[in-house]
Amino acid sequence: MNKTKMISTVGPSSLDKEIIRGLIKGGSDVIRINMSHSNLDEAKKIIGYVREINFEEKILTGIMLDTKGPEIRIGALEEKKVFLQKDKIIRLSESEIVGNKDLISLSSKGLISHIDIGGYVYLDSGKVKLEVIEKGPDIILCKILNDAIINQYSIVNIPNLDYDIKFLSNYDIECIKFASENKVDYIALSYVKDAADVLDVNDVLIGLNNNNIQLISKIENKNAIDDIENIIKASDGIMVSRGDLGLDTELEKIPSIQKRIVDLTKREEKIIIIATEMLASMKENVRPTRAEVSDVASSVVEQVDALMLSSETAIGKNPVQTVETMSKIIESTEKELDYSSYLKSVINKSNTISKAISYSAATSANNINADAIVCSTTSGLTAKLISSYRPGCPVIAISPSEYVARGLSLNYGIIPVYTKMMTSTDELVELSKKAYKVMLKKDEGKIVIVGSFPLSVNYTNYMKIEEIK
Ligand code: PEP
Repeated sequence: MNKTKMISTVGPSSLDKEIIRGLIKGGSDVIRINMSHSNLDEAKKIIGYVREINFEEKILTGIMLDTKGPEIRIGALEEKKVFLQKDKIIRLSESEIVGNKDLISLSSKGLISHIDIGGYVYLDSGKVKLEVIEKGPDIILCKILNDAIINQYSIVNIPNLDYDIKFLSNYDIECIKFASENKVDYIALSYVKDAADVLDVNDVLIGLNNNNIQLISKIENKNAIDDIENIIKASDGIMVSRGDLGLDTELEKIPSIQKRIVDLTKREEKIIIIATEMLASMKENVRPTRAEVSDVASSVVEQVDALMLSSETAIGKNPVQTVETMSKIIESTEKELDYSSYLKSVINKSNTISKAISYSAATSANNINADAIVCSTTSGLTAKLISSYRPGCPVIAISPSEYVARGLSLNYGIIPVYTKMMTSTDELVELSKKAYKVMLKKDEGKIVIVGSFPLSVNYTNYMKIEEIK
């Protein structure tokens, strides 16, 4: 089983129960539903399929709902799409009109006054670049810098835009309520610009009495990079959303920004995800490019928690094959990793009993070359801490709460297992051995067992090493 987790996005080419089964059996740990492209009925259908497959296959798959967020889009177009010709002039307006090659409307109001002459605007997720040459009260004139066909309602990116669009729309709030009612595990927050945005969503979840859903902040603009340390602290995890980020910052800066975000997030023991264009050529082809294989492998070497497939599985021609390919690259790269070096480099912050036990479990497992760490967890915290030390063996996390177990789907090296409620420490040891045998299909081995003793203590304070013969 791979330690690096995989997220697959379901869309038109994979919204089918058997294809979703293929994505899950191919190695996807989490299924993502992108609310920019899916509606609530489709989301309900996808969640239903995943739950049915989980029941039939006796596995746990996390669900991530990705918000639409405060995105800017172009309006309707006369022919649904339009060809924009290099060097021609086009006007962008805030009035609601049906656009054509000369005039296009923008979805957000009051934003044009914040766009600077000499600045750039990208239409349809970067397909065409415009330079702003003149501006009026609610209209701007732009020069088209390259030929492209753009689609109606597609995404507009305006680098360096200093304009405070309301972070949560009514639709986003409706989606968050839906996520809570349907026990979704993760909400990915689009276009977060600072920690206050994350806290706003947290307030909505508090109002819904939901403290299970984990918030993943998508870093996709310069404002978010400026507040990155606070955003990491306010979030359960971070996604390096290289698609939009590549339009808001210079492309050549993406690798160094990615590296910095990965290091900062790992240091805070939070989930780190790398997203977008990992195997983009597989949308059309059955084999990835060498550069894509290296990109996936580099993130595995960085020991990030998860890699995400977006349009590859949502609209690509080969969704299941793409997942299987990514899984193979991860498996092959992980075999070459030296797991002792990361743990040695970690600054040991064992200032609580749970942290001291988690650190000791990871260190002991590496020292004795253990086959697994089995961790019983009621909140998921101990399993996450152990995973953050990136031990060399898998971490089997057993929990009497299915929701808690599923909420560990994204953490590096964790195999989540839903078990019955334990009533004694003897039972904890027996269940740990059984979980090891069933999940790793082994009859022998050394396991490090972590839990609470007595069971009524609500923090982790117990560690035992068992040799199964
Ligand atoms: C991205 O821009 O990289 C991204 C993950 O966003 P989305 O797929 O939601 O457009």
